[in-house]
Amino acid sequence: MSESIHRTKTRPVKVGDLTVGGSNELFIQSMATTKTHDVEATVAEILRLEEAGCQIVRVACPDERAAYAIGEIKKRINIPLVVDIHFDYKLALIAIEQGADKIRINPGNIGRREKVEAVVNAAKAKGIPIRIGVNAGSLERKILEKYGYPTADGMVESALHHIKILEDLDFHDIIVSMKASDVSLAIEAYEKASKAFDYPLHLGITESGTLFTGTVKSSAGLGALLAKGLGNTMRISLSADPVEEVKVARELLKVFGLSSNAATLISCPTCGRIEIDLISIANEVEEYISHIKAPIKVAVLGCAVNGPGEAREADIGIAGARGEGLLFMHGKTVRKVPEETMVDELKIEIDKLAQEYFDK
Ligand code: SF4
Repeated sequence: MSESIHRTKTRPVKVGDLTVGGSNELFIQSMATTKTHDVEATVAEILRLEEAGCQIVRVACPDERAAYAIGEIKKRINIPLVVDIHFDYKLALIAIEQGADKIRINPGNIGRREKVEAVVNAAKAKGIPIRIGVNAGSLERKILEKYGYPTADGMVESALHHIKILEDLDFHDIIVSMKASDVSLAIEAYEKASKAFDYPLHLGITESGTLFTGTVKSSAGLGALLAKGLGNTMRISLSADPVEEVKVARELLKVFGLSSNAATLISCPTCGRIEIDLISIANEVEEYISHIKAPIKVAVLGCAVNGPGEAREADIGIAGARGEGLLFMHGKTVRKVPEETMVDELKIEIDKLAQEYFDK
């Protein structure tokens, strides 16, 4: 069972009933792909995301129909709702009034000071934060002219520009993202941002690609940041069902010992010593443990030659052994089980371990 690694402390910011930043856990975020004004479809997708482990969800708000749908959506979901607005302060005001738990809008893009003040005052009155979303692909012209092309320093300068507008209005419930589709640029920008200010960081690699390529790219970039203790919320952006974003995020958090409520699978790569149909067993066990909310490690190994010993850190596992399997715990064989029932027996033992964890 894993321990969380140190997180860099930031200012704590409330998002609905969660506190983002401070010394709190990193929360998984995703974004609905539905038309926000289609309340039925949006709620259905958000409920699927919740079921997968999503902890904060964002919706697009391109028009008034979307903004006025926020209240109804809020009533029917169980996680904080972030509303994404570009430029239009009126939409921000409607979304806030409808009960948004956070809005994503760049104050420098709102326009006249009165409009910015109206949004900030509304957010203050409701006690909700504003996320500033810096994107390497849409930096302000004067910053691009200064640096010549999108750089990490330019992105930090952009973030500080928007932060200052809010701070000058005595608003400090701020969360910042520094997204780029170039992984090295995103890593450098987040690192520099973490030194330039202490607001919580929402991590993401934007336009990262399809399920396969996007998972690799996001994991490379966000993994580097997680390893440095950075990040307070995280979205894996994929051109795929957003439930996949949540699944990838959960796996990534497990890799870094940052998930306290999910089981992990260890499975061998297989080789010529294999004694069981390991690939299908591993997939079945992986699917099964995706619903287990205890931080146990489960191993599935193709043979017993190096089997149990290779997976000593596993809490429980099976290793193939000619027509049967060895059920083992912490590297020690507990008993032999017939091949036909080994997966079922493993599932029973997994449930017992999970129950023991919750009874502790
Ligand atoms: Fe090969 Fe056995 Fe190791 Fe799997 S556990 S990789 S089958 S030696």
